[in-house]
Amino acid sequence: MNRLYHESEDWVAQGACRQYDPELFFPVGTDGPGLDTAELAKAICRTCTVRQQCLLWALRSGEAHGVWGGTTPEERRLMRRELAPAG
Ligand code: SF4
Repeated sequence: MNRLYHESEDWVAQGACRQYDPELFFPVGTDGPGLDTAELAKAICRTCTVRQQCLLWALRSGEAHGVWGGTTPEERRLMRRELAPAG
């Protein structure tokens, strides 16, 4: 798992990212090399058996940095906006 501060979550130990450099999941920038790194992290997430739990955690916690559950921070911001009650 690429972050240690929520190790108490049951799904964390099963994360595919545990096998990779944590920096892959924190791309710098949103274009060029940063975009390539994010795409690589997202590809790893697509193989992950706990992707759904990870994404729900990131959405609920408002995690603002890094790739979680196969999504970038910007993608999660858009998802939260779409899921927010109207009004
Ligand atoms: S979905 Fe991605 S970030 Fe989340 S546990 Fe799996 S590999 Fe790690």
